Amino acid sequence: MPTDDSVYSYSAVLMGSPILLKLFSHNEPLASRVFSLIKQYEDLLTVNRAQSQVMDINHAAGEHSVPVSRPVYQLIKCAKASSMLPGSAFNLAIGPLVKRWRIGFKGDSVPPADEIAALLEVTKAEDVLLDDTALSVFLTRKGMEIDLGAIAKGYIADRVRDLLQKEGVTEGLINLGGNVQTLGTPQGYWSIGLKKPFSDADALVGAMEVANKSVVTSGTYERYFEKNGQRYHHILDPKTGYPLDNELDSVTIISTDSLDGDIWTTLLYGAGVEHGCRMLKGRDDIEAIFVTKAREVVLSSRRQFRFTLLDDSYRLIDCTA
Ligand code: FAD
Ligand code: MG
Repeated sequence: MPTDDSVYSYSAVLMGSPILLKLFSHNEPLASRVFSLIKQYEDLLTVNRAQSQVMDINHAAGEHSVPVSRPVYQLIKCAKASSMLPGSAFNLAIGPLVKRWRIGFKGDSVPPADEIAALLEVTKAEDVLLDDTALSVFLTRKGMEIDLGAIAKGYIADRVRDLLQKEGVTEGLINLGGNVQTLGTPQGYWSIGLKKPFSDADALVGAMEVANKSVVTSGTYERYFEKNGQRYHHILDPKTGYPLDNELDSVTIISTDSLDGDIWTTLLYGAGVEHGCRMLKGRDDIEAIFVTKAREVVLSSRRQFRFTLLDDSYRLIDCTA
């Protein structure tokens, strides 16, 4: 990150997340427009309040279809397509389980196994029916709920980038709490830290140098609770209804669009290192950094970024798959 004091930082809390905007000229009105754009999308997409376009769809589950605005429809369509990929760990219909576990919210608890089994029945992505002409969405079974928590921040980060570009900003950064989108190349690159799992907020495993790229991280260490010595984190396995359990602490994706980054962190979190690296073969535009519980940092490739390891208790490895 340039240490230059011409960097102006603006912050807010939206979507339950700390939001940080960096610009290279002092521009309070533009910062306000960025935050109100994020708020507009939050108002459309949130499932943490009784009313939003997504909640209108959820309230009508098992009853009728609901027409929505084009951006909401397109995002749901994209989320459904990602959910329908063979073996996908991404599931836009995961809502009933997210609401029951409440991981990251007050009142979290481990649901009884029979409740999880029952909720799995109303979390099937194929039961989300889309009508391209009416731009409407129908959840065919009562109790179904769409949750866009694993994709919406990525989409919104890209819309902020578009707004900044439209306003003639050539260098800047937006961080939506785990979703970073960068513009331009101040002093040649942006340096983005890779957080050390389960450590102090500012402890880093390493740092990436990127330009005009998005960096999205999904980890098990931001939103979780512990019960009887067991840790339960917020990325759920759509097959079992329990938090995904594998060798990973986090997955970071470097890509042009943050939307892709957000989708792929979830897909690859589910796939694990070996299968994840294979999935990225032929996807020159998407690169991953896996941080494992065994203290390895595995890079799928290094085309769009440079990586520096900052913590020597970790081992840096390149994917061999
Ligand atoms: P990711 O790993 O990208 O996604 C994990 C999230 O996706 C989970 O939290 C869950 O919501 C969902 N999910 C879990 N498993 C799956 C799966 N297998 N497939 C697909 N999705 C899955 N947080 C608050 O504390 N308060 C708020 O008021 C609040 N409002 C929000 C409003 C909006 C519009 C959005 C987008 C988020 C909001 N959040 C809020 C944060 C939200 O609850 C999630 O924690 C956040 O979106 C997770 O983002 P991530 O990138 O860390 O995780
Ligand atoms: Mg995600």
